[in-house]
Amino acid sequence: MGFEIEISNLKKNYSYLTAISDLNARLEKGDFITLFGPNGAGKSTLLKILSTLLKPSEGNVVISGHDLGKNRNEIRKIIGFVSHQNMLYENLTAFENLKFISTFYSIKKPDEICGKLLQDIGLYERRSDPVKTFSSGMKQRLSIARTLINNPKILFLDEPYNGLDQEGIESFSSILSDLKSKGHTIFLTTHNIDEGLELSDRLMILNKGKLVFDQKNIYRKEEFKEIYFSVLKN
Ligand code: ADP
Ligand code: MG
Repeated sequence: MGFEIEISNLKKNYSYLTAISDLNARLEKGDFITLFGPNGAGKSTLLKILSTLLKPSEGNVVISGHDLGKNRNEIRKIIGFVSHQNMLYENLTAFENLKFISTFYSIKKPDEICGKLLQDIGLYERRSDPVKTFSSGMKQRLSIARTLINNPKILFLDEPYNGLDQEGIESFSSILSDLKSKGHTIFLTTHNIDEGLELSDRLMILNKGKLVFDQKNIYRKEEFKEIYFSVLKN
């Protein structure tokens, strides 16, 4: 079986600073992968590279059989990227935001798709309200709906729980759980070990640009907390 994402000898330098050093990983289709790591570990750098937004300094990435160095456009068709800086238009309504994005893709029945997505994220009743009236949790849910408009099979989520309250975290998690059950491959980053643990099939820890932990085991929160702090010390 081929892997969905293959990362080989990946390096990224910002002038003299090494943000990613010699990273290797093979990720399986349909897995929910959570990449933990403190601030500055290189999580966003890695996700931007995988999402084609940033070029690596060295190494190779293959996503769904497409070489990142050669087939950027093919990769863009099958991935979605959500960062905590949402790409929403504050003065447009939730529906208008999705409708606008849909015009970039050749989607049949865009109104139906937008309506369905708003239902899936629990914002259908608020579809005609401008985004500026939304809570951060609602905006985050709309951001993911925005990314789902062309039904990408791989989702990269950079610290998606940032700035969400408990209720926001829970409703966002239930959306992720739904996406996981639909077979999407999900790669999420977080600096908070209280997040993302339950949904994960695979846990990774990045520290100072190095992958210092990578396992498919399931851990209880307390157990994983111990592992996390002990690998960061080394
Ligand atoms: P994380 O997302 O885990 O907090 P980042 O990938 O944002 O980590 O950053 C990794 C390292 O690279 C940090 O030391 C950060 O200061 C540095 N860095 C990130 N982006 C840039 C940039 N555009 N120019 C220079 N250094 C950067
Ligand atoms: Mg980051």
